[in-house]
Amino acid sequence: YIPLGVLGALGAVGLVLWLSRRRLSLRGELATAVRRREFFLHYQPIIELDTGICVGAESLLRWRRPDGSQVRPDLFIPLAEENGLIEDLTDQVIDMVIADMRDLLVRDRSAHIAINLSACDVSSGRALKVLSARLAGTGIHPQQIWLEATERGFIDIERARTTLAIARRAGHNVAIDDFGVGYSSLQYLQQLPLDALKIDKSFIDAIGTDSATSPVTSHIIDMAKTLGLFTVAEGIETPAQLTYLQARQVEFGQGWLFSKPLPPDAFMAFHQQRREQ
Ligand code: C2E
Ligand code: CA
Ligand code: CA
Ligand code: CA
Repeated sequence: YIPLGVLGALGAVGLVLWLSRRRLSLRGELATAVRRREFFLHYQPIIELDTGICVGAESLLRWRRPDGSQVRPDLFIPLAEENGLIEDLTDQVIDMVIADMRDLLVRDRSAHIAINLSACDVSSGRALKVLSARLAGTGIHPQQIWLEATERGFIDIERARTTLAIARRAGHNVAIDDFGVGYSSLQYLQQLPLDALKIDKSFIDAIGTDSATSPVTSHIIDMAKTLGLFTVAEGIETPAQLTYLQARQVEFGQGWLFSKPLPPDAFMAFHQQRREQ
């Protein structure tokens, strides 16, 4: 006879072991996957909220393993960051954005594609050198590549400031990603050379609810306006959220209400259709 509590504890230990073993094997697999280029991009349309026009897309990384299964980016991106693989992955993202979207960007000068940079990319600044080298001769203007920098893991604000300043001088638009989720304060933001602020989905979810987060959404929008930044709302799912954001003059947004992230061809069709409405 074994008491239930002991069984439960054994179960929990087993689960933790299983999870850490899974993490370990994923870690080994990831290095191979980066070498074998098992990644591709989806593109989520970004919409100008007062016109409904599609102005571009955010590139979002996908990993399909050889057995056909997919791993979610919120699982493998942190792993890549911890294991020194993220900068190689960012290089691949840059290559894929150019390969997928060059024609569209050259045809439509008002279109842009946003690339996510992790804290390591921002800290080292290497991704920017790669980007400018790869863009040379493609006909794509730097203005057509927006950069989304997350503040998660920014250790050295001085280096972040340097990299972001270089990015802006090169002509890119720079947005702070997942705003409000980390430690960002007004003071902190004022120190960074930015064009835009991306409002995290958790704050969009709160719109119209009586959750404690709801008033924060309004403050974030005010803060962006005070700093002279434009705003991009992430994760818009309902017409009520859209109406609220339009009333608050949030310039751009993305979310399932408009479209899920799409393969390159499907995004190009979507963009074509929503270009001049
Ligand atoms: P993120 O940068 O905050 O990207 C937005 C996430 O919200 C995406 O998840 C997108 O698919 C999801 N999303 C957008 N609209 C909606 C909506 O209406 N409803 C719901 N439920 N979700 C929505 P995804 O593609 O799974 O990416 C997760 C995170 O992984 C990203 O969050 C980003 O932090 C990271 N990531 C993705 N691609 C890259 C990349 O190329 N480089 C780096 N460094 N990070 C990336
Ligand atoms: Ca992003
Ligand atoms: Ca985001
Ligand atoms: Ca987010």
